[in-house]
Amino acid sequence: MKLMVLGNTGPYPGPGGACSGYLLESGDTRMVMDFGNGTLANLQKHHSIDEISLIICSHLHADHISDLFVLRYALEQKKLMIPLFVPSEPPLELASLYYKNVYTIKTLSEELVLKPDHLTITFKKLKHSFLDYAIKITDGETTFLYTGDTCYTPALGEFAKGVDVMLCDGAFLEDVVSDKHLSVKEACEIANEAGVKTLILTHFAPFEDPQAYLSKGEKLFKGALYVTEIGKSFDIKALSKN
Ligand SMILES: [Zn+2]
Ligand SMILES: [Zn+2]
Repeated sequence: MKLMVLGNTGPYPGPGGACSGYLLESGDTRMVMDFGNGTLANLQKHHSIDEISLIICSHLHADHISDLFVLRYALEQKKLMIPLFVPSEPPLELASLYYKNVYTIKTLSEELVLKPDHLTITFKKLKHSFLDYAIKITDGETTFLYTGDTCYTPALGEFAKGVDVMLCDGAFLEDVVSDKHLSVKEACEIANEAGVKTLILTHFAPFEDPQAYLSKGEKLFKGALYVTEIGKSFDIKALSKN
């Protein structure tokens, strides 16, 4: 599995930045997790639109889905359809995705198991102002988890057990407790407790330097710590050996 960062800020991008979007490649599968603004432009630096196998969005906040509203014009022109997996609520946001009918839309649940190619993908409800699902992907050898947006919840600690590499909301540099996002401190504590080997922090404020998140997290996380950067690739198998 290879992960590439297409966008990493929230809830809006800084100059030249992009909001949440991550490409995960394995074998013939190219899936994009979240599709925030800037994701489509950055994706096309590496792959054409017809190479996307599926899109999964952790939740329906605009910084995680907004480029779906322009991708649909491209799909319409190219006469393509893409499988899209999203949470079932809020209903207004879900309904807005059906316009142009270019996505094969299925809703996420904790019972859903996707098996594209040789991968197995499962989901867990976390805690955010919109319904958010963590996405766990395994190729049988290595296990990767992406949190989407979440505040502290025991559900994440449980779901993260046995995970090799976790891409995690670490939105707050300060040690604050919020009902929307995790602080770097909380992300590191959850990952330490779950025995995660490699932690990749993301969802940075557009006005903060990602290196500040790295410096803060390195003092707290016991395993290998990284921060996201647009265009940066992570070899998940190599990181699972950390
Ligand atoms: Zn967000
Ligand atoms: Zn959100």
